[in-house]
Amino acid sequence: MTDEADRKGRGLQTRLVQAGKDGVSSGGHAVNPPLVRASTVLFADTAQQRDMRSRRDSERLFTYGARGTPTTFALEDAVSELEGAYRTRLFPSGLAAIGFTLLAYLKPGDDLLMSDGVYEPARALARSFLEPYGIRTTFFAADGSDLEQRWQAGTRMVFAECPGSLVYEMCDLPELARFAHGRGALVAADNTWGCGVLYRPLALGADISVTAATKYLSGHSDVTMGTVSTTKDVWQPLQQRCEAFGMTASPDDAWLVLRGMRSLAPRLQMHEQHALQVAQWLAGRAEVRAVFCPALPADPGHALWKRDCTGTNGLLSIELQPGTGPAAVDRFIDSLSLFGLGASWGGYESLVTAANMQRARSVTDWSARGPVVRLHIGLEDPVDLIADLGRGFAAL
Ligand SMILES: *Cc1c(COP(=O)(O)O)cnc(C)c1O
Repeated sequence: MTDEADRKGRGLQTRLVQAGKDGVSSGGHAVNPPLVRASTVLFADTAQQRDMRSRRDSERLFTYGARGTPTTFALEDAVSELEGAYRTRLFPSGLAAIGFTLLAYLKPGDDLLMSDGVYEPARALARSFLEPYGIRTTFFAADGSDLEQRWQAGTRMVFAECPGSLVYEMCDLPELARFAHGRGALVAADNTWGCGVLYRPLALGADISVTAATKYLSGHSDVTMGTVSTTKDVWQPLQQRCEAFGMTASPDDAWLVLRGMRSLAPRLQMHEQHALQVAQWLAGRAEVRAVFCPALPADPGHALWKRDCTGTNGLLSIELQPGTGPAAVDRFIDSLSLFGLGASWGGYESLVTAANMQRARSVTDWSARGPVVRLHIGLEDPVDLIADLGRGFAAL
């Protein structure tokens, strides 16, 4: 230890804390935003600290790690760009984003109108948490047809999901928003299916758009993340609640999602192409009673899909013929080798899972329908996927 640092009179432990912190790079800069992890953020002097603290609630400033870092800000901006939003906040999962949206805008005594087509854990959250907290949830048909009938005097929010989970019901979101806004309620939409590319709720009249970035935005089945994007008018309650609760998301995860997002558009195009090819084949199978995908002309939501969506993705569900028993459905699923058996979707790989529609819907009666199986069509060669499904039907 006879080097320069010693001549500055600093001990080894001090040098370990200070080393490598200045003059980090000369030359150009990397393509991607740097990964910035932080809790403490340092200020130049007390004047700057005071100034930043006075502005941090109204402006997005790097003042403390839990409030976001340049990496999470970069992802927020990318999502805002897609969603056409004023700003976006990140959450550790899609479900956390849904839960927080409900908490940020509703209070005890309020009524919530929730689409029958929502992601099932959102339904469970409304029942198990909002209800005892004094926020009453009423479900309306996933196509929005009974919204007026279900309206309550205390309805403060309509929470939609379009297309709906599992069977992709379309609703007329602009019409729904007109109706809700006319009665002083906010409109939030779960946009995980459309992810700001295929569908843009804010442009169609919603105030809040929620996504599970876990799915297509990240695209690689290796991260969970949620996003909430809003218009300028309704931004403040979300921002304030996030700060009050210390709601934060990992910069490492944000960095991964940003990386995945760069290829979002071409991935979606390929998922769509493959899904449509598989759907066409499925529609011709005797074992299949219906193929659910709003891009198919026979789908009940096709006209709205054509009007409001710019494409479809890799999601397809099939209704097997009524009378197909649970053991046969298991044989079908278990004999597939290219379709992984698991929840979630939006990665590059194909997935299969059985859907329990009677549990997933309370307004629409599914009791007389056949079993529903959800497929996520990945980037594999569709010819191979079709051959795999053929083996499944042989086992069924
Ligand atoms: C997966 C999903 C979610 C939840 O996302 P997680 O990150 O898994 O919590 C929310 N909404 C929809 C429509 C989903 O498909």
